[in-house]
Amino acid sequence: MELTIDYECPQCKSSSHQRLSDISPGKIRKCARCGSPLVLTIEGLRGFERALHAYCHP
Ligand SMILES: [Zn+2]
Repeated sequence: MELTIDYECPQCKSSSHQRLSDISPGKIRKCARCGSPLVLTIEGLRGFERALHAYCHP
């Protein structure tokens, strides 16, 4: 199982699943649709929290 975290595009509101292993500090992620920098949202973090919990307690 691979942990993913959801990022959101502030422009077109499309969400993007990013693999945790692909995330590194200072790296800018761009929206596949419009090229805007993706942002991490509270919803994305909450979803990640659930995924992490499921990962640790299968
Ligand atoms: Zn976009």
